[in-house]
Amino acid sequence: MNVIEKVKILGAAGKFDVCASTASCRKTPSLDRVGSAVSSGICHSFTPDGRCVSLFKVLYTNSCSFDCKYCPNTCSGRKASFEPEELGNLFISLYLGNYVEGLFLSSGIAGDPDRVSEKMIETVNFIRERHKFRGYVHSKVLPGTDYSLVKALSEVSDRMSVNVETPSKARMGMVSSNKEFKSDILRRQAWIKRLASRKNLPAGQTTQFIVGASGESDLEILRLMDWEYRQMKVKRCYFSAFSPVKETALEGKERTPIWRENRLYQCDWLLRKYGFPLGDLKNVMDGEFLANEAPKLLMARQTLDSPVDVNECSFEDLIKVPGIGLVTAKRILGYRKKDKVKGYEELRNMGVVLKRARPFIEVAGKHQRRLGDFL
Ligand code: SF4
Repeated sequence: MNVIEKVKILGAAGKFDVCASTASCRKTPSLDRVGSAVSSGICHSFTPDGRCVSLFKVLYTNSCSFDCKYCPNTCSGRKASFEPEELGNLFISLYLGNYVEGLFLSSGIAGDPDRVSEKMIETVNFIRERHKFRGYVHSKVLPGTDYSLVKALSEVSDRMSVNVETPSKARMGMVSSNKEFKSDILRRQAWIKRLASRKNLPAGQTTQFIVGASGESDLEILRLMDWEYRQMKVKRCYFSAFSPVKETALEGKERTPIWRENRLYQCDWLLRKYGFPLGDLKNVMDGEFLANEAPKLLMARQTLDSPVDVNECSFEDLIKVPGIGLVTAKRILGYRKKDKVKGYEELRNMGVVLKRARPFIEVAGKHQRRLGDFL
């Protein structure tokens, strides 16, 4: 099999790992348009200094002896594997051609995870040592890999990840008979946390959930996500709405609506960036599931009984208002040091989305009345 055929197979197999923000895009390619996230191979990610880089996203092999019910690598389709030098040379030619700026390397587990991990390390070592590549490398840690190999991989990678996929041991048991939640995933995440330093893994570790594959609730996902940020010091959690793949054990299972993935990303943002407690999100759930409405709007409806006075309120109250983000709230506080906010137009100029914010704010004694005012 030539290298182009391998790229077609192993690049396409890599698209199921959503390390990039294009994950939820389902647009199909066509001749009269540019831009598609379906046929994979190159994705985007953010380096520790905040730059967006294009990564060559590929599997070392798509053969796997595990039996994860959602995974296309369990199908009997065409199998392919690279050799370390072959993959290293291919990556460097793409890099020198300005097609990509970094590498995202994952793999199926063909037999012994240590053997496959050794090949992945050999590949990264090859581009680092032979080609003096100093750019960004994101490496996947395979379930079952020995500590010494995880350590060796951490020494040549900028970021590593182990996918939790499901929110608990019981849920994992529903989709895989041989992937062990605690030892294969959590233990290896704890190792990576320990190994991360300024020199090794400057971009830390990330993880991914497959939403809806094991019948889990949103609350189960959010609980583990919250724990991952606090305990495992994970930099980002990614979500991928479950989509059935032909010939897998879950091929007949219904696809998870994409809005569920989007709402989870909104919750992630509110917990991670705004510092809202998980309990506040829980209060606006329908049982253990998110509604298909912006969680911040639902929280504002529930907690902001009276309009927030933009000239008097705290930063914490300002960011509860829909249409006012972290940057805009800081601008309003900065403005207040010099002058009072006198009208909606000033707020609009500072970046407030008035359509969303108006029902929740008071400006110079004026506020738009809400339905609740009449009840
Ligand atoms: S371990 Fe599971 S998810 Fe990973 S490649 Fe193998 S079958 Fe797929």
